[in-house]
Amino acid sequence: MTDKVFSKPFTQQEAIPEAGIERAVEVLRSGRLHRYNVADGETAEVAQLETAFADYIGQQYCLACASGGYAMHIALKAAGIKHGDKVLTNAFTLAPVPGAINNAGGEPVLVEIDENYLVDLKHLEQMMIEFRAGFFIISHMRGHIADMDAIVKLCDQHQVILIEDCAHTMGAYWNGKRSGTFGRIGCFSTQTYKHLNSGEGGFLTTDDAQIMARAVMHSGSYMLFERHDAAPDVSVFADIKLDTPNYSGRMDNLRAAILRAQLPLLDENCRRWNDRYRALEKVLSSNPRIQLSQRPHKEAFVGSSFQFRIEELNQGQIDDFVQTCAARGVELKWFGGKEPHGFTSRYDSWRYLDNKQHLPNTLHILATTFDLRIPLTFSVDDMIVIGEIISDVASGVF
Ligand SMILES: *Cc1c(COP(=O)(O)O)cnc(C)c1O
Repeated sequence: MTDKVFSKPFTQQEAIPEAGIERAVEVLRSGRLHRYNVADGETAEVAQLETAFADYIGQQYCLACASGGYAMHIALKAAGIKHGDKVLTNAFTLAPVPGAINNAGGEPVLVEIDENYLVDLKHLEQMMIEFRAGFFIISHMRGHIADMDAIVKLCDQHQVILIEDCAHTMGAYWNGKRSGTFGRIGCFSTQTYKHLNSGEGGFLTTDDAQIMARAVMHSGSYMLFERHDAAPDVSVFADIKLDTPNYSGRMDNLRAAILRAQLPLLDENCRRWNDRYRALEKVLSSNPRIQLSQRPHKEAFVGSSFQFRIEELNQGQIDDFVQTCAARGVELKWFGGKEPHGFTSRYDSWRYLDNKQHLPNTLHILATTFDLRIPLTFSVDDMIVIGEIISDVASGVF
């Protein structure tokens, strides 16, 4: 038993590194905020950031853009989606994923998840066959990475183009290979609650020159594509540039300056997230009522959030559990509610989807899942206190 109360906010991020603030001020003083507005001989912050991120991920090409959702939208367009095409995605994801599919003219087809929040491979194959989907945006939701070797194989077998939503796996690996490099395209977010913070922003990465050239044109490059470094040779644009609509969604130099200073700290921050994740996991593992995710040994994840499940709670007990934790300063999300709250993601709240699917496994898992964010402003000791409070309250609600 503990009567501890936790008092730090769950939404407070760390400050932008001083080097980023200084560089951002220089960009502001220069007045050259637009990525294509460069002085003679200058390489824009955005172009430098793209090169640095392409190197980090180990892909040839990178496009920095306005958001992660935007990156997925133009990823689908650049990969050749046609109006009405079916696009697979996991049923447990965040609203920007079905939104990006809709924005690209596609129709989402949802795939069940299992109790470890991984895509259900049998259901995936069934949906591939039933809907003849040409695309699969796998969303590594909350940082859980499914068996990527099996997924790549299935996609090849059924001629499905794989696009990865790495909003929660920037810095993670599967079997020694970076998340985001398994699919034809990787999409990342630099929105405040992700692994890099520019307020809003995103990246698209690929090794495919045609796709990259189309993505650059879509992002709104006004025929200034030669000012990209992490992009294919200008000759690749010759056939593409007049056939690719401008869906303006560039990143600007101010945000790029902020991000460029954070990128060298990313791997160390991933380790810090995992120290916090493991500390919480250790405390919760001593309570048999709490089910923790089994993480495959090939998965080198980034523990920037934590999910656990409690079976057998009725509605009153769930409300009680969440409210008592909140009263003691621990903000939990529960994905089972009829109405979405904050950022919660239950697929039946995307009522605009044409395809009305019923996914009983996903609904059951979400109805028994609790989720919390791990901001780096929390210490390892904070995670122990949070774990003690959760465990204590969980024991009390039965
Ligand atoms: C944040 C997020 C995105 C992209 O979000 P943006 O706000 O558009 O950058 C995509 N997928 C998931 C799972 C996310 O959490």
